[in-house]
Amino acid sequence: MKNLSHLELWFITGSQHLYGKEALQQVARNAKKIARALDKSTYIPIKIIHKPTLTQPAEVSELMTAANANANCIGLIAWMHTFSPAKMWIHGLKILNKPLVHLHTQLNRDIPWETIDMDYMNLHQSAHGGREFGFINTRMRLNRKVVVGHWKEDSVHQQLDTWARAALGWQEMQQIKVARLGDNMRAVAVTEGDKVAAQIQLGMSVNGFEMGNLVEKVEAVSAKKVKQLVKEYEANYQLMKVLKARGEKRQSLLDAAKIELGMRQFLKEGGFTAYTNTFENLYGLKQLPGIASQRLMADGYGFGAEGDWKTAALVRAMKVMATGLEGGNSFMEDYTYHFDPDRRSVLGAHMLEICPSIASGTIRCEVHPLGIGGKEDPVRLVFTAGEGPALNAALIDLGNRFRLLVNTVEAIEPDPLPNLPVASVLWKPHPNLSIGAAAWILAGGAHHTCFSQNLRVEHLEDFAEMAGIELVVIDEHTELRSFKQDLRNNEIYYHLFKQGF
Ligand code: MN
Repeated sequence: MKNLSHLELWFITGSQHLYGKEALQQVARNAKKIARALDKSTYIPIKIIHKPTLTQPAEVSELMTAANANANCIGLIAWMHTFSPAKMWIHGLKILNKPLVHLHTQLNRDIPWETIDMDYMNLHQSAHGGREFGFINTRMRLNRKVVVGHWKEDSVHQQLDTWARAALGWQEMQQIKVARLGDNMRAVAVTEGDKVAAQIQLGMSVNGFEMGNLVEKVEAVSAKKVKQLVKEYEANYQLMKVLKARGEKRQSLLDAAKIELGMRQFLKEGGFTAYTNTFENLYGLKQLPGIASQRLMADGYGFGAEGDWKTAALVRAMKVMATGLEGGNSFMEDYTYHFDPDRRSVLGAHMLEICPSIASGTIRCEVHPLGIGGKEDPVRLVFTAGEGPALNAALIDLGNRFRLLVNTVEAIEPDPLPNLPVASVLWKPHPNLSIGAAAWILAGGAHHTCFSQNLRVEHLEDFAEMAGIELVVIDEHTELRSFKQDLRNNEIYYHLFKQGF
């Protein structure tokens, strides 16, 4: 997965000259102390760099310009140690194009009741200094996160971690290159969208390629490399008898391995971190990539089936956000309902492409016919996902804006599925299947999603604010009448603010 060691968050401190030189030296020492503690936090995966105290408009502008220009800086943590008159922040905030979190904290946790005097008060005045900073951000209609609490508190570190991961996803989203192999599944609407608008709003680029471009790479794969990869399959998965050496379907396994190696080469050469394909346009490929897409996803690639470039990019961004966390993220599709009143749930799966990062238990490697596409039987990994809290997220194009739709779910244990030839996960959507699915459909949510075991709504909330896109959440509090009203309100909001293009 991604190496994060070169990335930085800049810790900036606001103050002014009113308090004298000594106070400013104290401010700098305190800021360093907090920045160092956050840098050592076990939560935040990005290193934190302390920057000199900002006391003048020109210093703020200079720092913001440097942050914008620094490719490794993925966001700023701002602390108003003292009162920093906010007019000095206007120009800098206006030009800043990196995510900002306002850390609303102070040096001492407790008021020293016996000794407190005005000197102490001057060095512990974030309570009003932070409000001045908050005003100018709100006055300028700037999206940012506000984290309140003492800097040693776990909850503060956790919130900063969430925001840092969102910033990581946002930095990634702006540079994702999606290869769209074979365009869109014919006549399907939700997987389409405005790729130019996506690049303007989100930064990601999406470009189409012929299957022939990929087939060339597949054909060039050496038998030796295929043999090596098949050994890896044998070591990691429980192979179906017919796929084992001298099994009657062994050739399918060799073909699948060759496809995987060809795809890896194609993606690597093009610098792609996400891709789509479609079972309708596979000219020259023997089988629809199954195990290949599954294993590429497990290595961090974004994937979207049937030409779904938005989901491919989202899967990639979410995988990057979740770097180093337990659990996985996968391309997913709401497949089949279980309407049993005792356990109303959704069986999520796809024709092949579910990421083994969400698997629990044995992963089997199997080959079965695929009813559509007219190609040879594809090899795939078959497993079920673990139980526990999770969420589904979809990125949809509403014509005037992008909407990120999130539904929290509880993954549950399915009954045995001896005849299901694909990987799957069973979940109960929040607040329940009736309201959850109705709300999803009313919001125009896609059947394709990114299923995440390790990201929470807050990660995607922070991400959506950085990207300037709409976020709609369906969770245990969702109630349909007010949900519909929220959608109507959002329609007005996004028209007024001309978010989008
Ligand atoms: Mn699909």
